[in-house]
Amino acid sequence: MALLVQKFGGTSVGSVERIQAVARRIAACKEDGNDLVIVVSAMGHTTDELTAKARAISSNPPQREMDMLLATGEQVSIALLSMALHALGVPAISMTGAQVGIVTESAHGRARILDVRTDRLRSRLAEGQVVVVAGFQGTSQSSGGTAEITTLGRGGSDTSAVALAAALGADACEIYTDVPGVLTTDPRKVADAQLMPEVSCDEMLELASLGAAVLHPRAVEIARNYGVTMVVRSSWSEDAGTTLTSRSARPIGRDGLELGRPVDGAELVEGQAVLALSHVSDQPGVAAQLFESLSAGGVNVDLIIQSTHEGNSNDITFTVAESELEKARGICADQLQTLGGELVAEAGMSKLSISGAGIMGRPGIAAGLFQTLSRVGINLRLIATSEVKVSCVVEASAGAKALQATQDAFELESDLISLNPLPSGEGDPEVRGIALDRDQAQVSVRHVPDKPGTAGALCNALADAGISLDGIVQSERQHADGSRDISFTLKRDDRAAADRALSHLLAQWPGALLEDGPAIARVSAVGAGMPATAGTAGRMFRYLADAGVNIEMIATSEIRTSCVVAESDGIAALQAVHTGFELGGSTRHQAQGTESPLES
Ligand code: ASP
Ligand code: MG
Repeated sequence: MALLVQKFGGTSVGSVERIQAVARRIAACKEDGNDLVIVVSAMGHTTDELTAKARAISSNPPQREMDMLLATGEQVSIALLSMALHALGVPAISMTGAQVGIVTESAHGRARILDVRTDRLRSRLAEGQVVVVAGFQGTSQSSGGTAEITTLGRGGSDTSAVALAAALGADACEIYTDVPGVLTTDPRKVADAQLMPEVSCDEMLELASLGAAVLHPRAVEIARNYGVTMVVRSSWSEDAGTTLTSRSARPIGRDGLELGRPVDGAELVEGQAVLALSHVSDQPGVAAQLFESLSAGGVNVDLIIQSTHEGNSNDITFTVAESELEKARGICADQLQTLGGELVAEAGMSKLSISGAGIMGRPGIAAGLFQTLSRVGINLRLIATSEVKVSCVVEASAGAKALQATQDAFELESDLISLNPLPSGEGDPEVRGIALDRDQAQVSVRHVPDKPGTAGALCNALADAGISLDGIVQSERQHADGSRDISFTLKRDDRAAADRALSHLLAQWPGALLEDGPAIARVSAVGAGMPATAGTAGRMFRYLADAGVNIEMIATSEIRTSCVVAESDGIAALQAVHTGFELGGSTRHQAQGTESPLES
């Protein structure tokens, strides 16, 4: 017997017949002796239809009234599902977000959950009732005023379900949907995408666009932070689906369920070396050849960044353990004889990282780290950002100071700090899934002064405008005046806002200017076993080279390797990498029903 939270999406309750089918499924699960909390979305496309009606009346309807309107969608589903359960003889009671005690911020249309008051829920469960809860909605606190209906943002009923599971300490949160689970890549682009039986929440967050097509990212963040086991599976079969695992499980603090501290770890890894190759020829296969020979020579490469410059040449910078520096230097020197270019190698480095769920969705966090380090006068040699981790390589002599400043800035208790942790991911697959992002733009800021604080200032100016950047690459190459270039990618939709956000800053740097790269796509391979496996990046570059795809930019993080390629190469690159890592294959587990639209 277990306490389960089960969520059924809009398609799963899209018609009276489907509601009845879902009710039968719930009845059987209840019959097995489980305690059940059921969360449902609005039927079918109800939320879209309600939104369209509102827009037909006003181009800018009051947010409060939008929430009032949209919350009705879920209220229809809970009532009908409860009736269907009653018709099967199952005791059930429906509850709105307010009735069940989901307390949120007051921000209409995108409220985050602060608290779930479980008393009423628990007493109903104790009476043997199935509690059917309206997803996507809550109530703002009546702080002296009146409580109001709020909604969590589109797709938010996944978030309602996981928050309920976290607050109740449920055994699992099962998300029933119209796809069989989470697949190794987008099945509309790669026909032999396979079901992943298991994926960690961190991997799911790193596979951002792929994961978001199946689950509300905020739901994954909650599951990660509070150690909720989530399962994504089909409403129409008994197949096991995909289980999302999470390592950490912290208690729900007083800051608010979704507002708790976003950074929950910092670490310093000492004994690092940086190798920087510049003016390497820019053609398919260069990165593959270089990193394959490093891996053949037994060198385990950690962070890699590559950016392309004027004159069709590349700078490639990477880090290795200091103990492998001489081996790596020798191999690079050999390679440079055929590839051309120069090599600078430097030992005596440390890597400082912060981790947490959804770091990229909160642009202030990376910026906060960079600013903290610049405030104490530390220069960043290399930067790697991802959804769950931001790392900077700094001089070893500054390591302890950097860690202390970070600990203070993010108010981390000492048990959240680690020094030289062992590499993680032993036994996990090197690559679990591949995501393709086509909503990114590549930009370079040319002629940035080479001094502490420039990367931080850039990120901060963008963060203030609510813009996240990814894959920040600080070039090795210096202009004649000592300045450098910084390249990064951001959401294409944010490109115009970035101009405005940076104009003030660029005016202070003589000669600095913002330059657009060509249209791009980003292919990311993600796997928790990546840090423990040598040669993953080299293999990925080889698969791309063999497909004739040129790599414009490389940015890695602990469990992710991303390559930016020309937009027109995106799908070919995705397919090549997916096939290369043998993620496709046997038709036995082949995804079914992938033609049907994903649930909104
Ligand atoms: N009905 C809401 C939406 O369509 C919430 C959900 O389905 O998760 O966005
Ligand atoms: Mg959904």
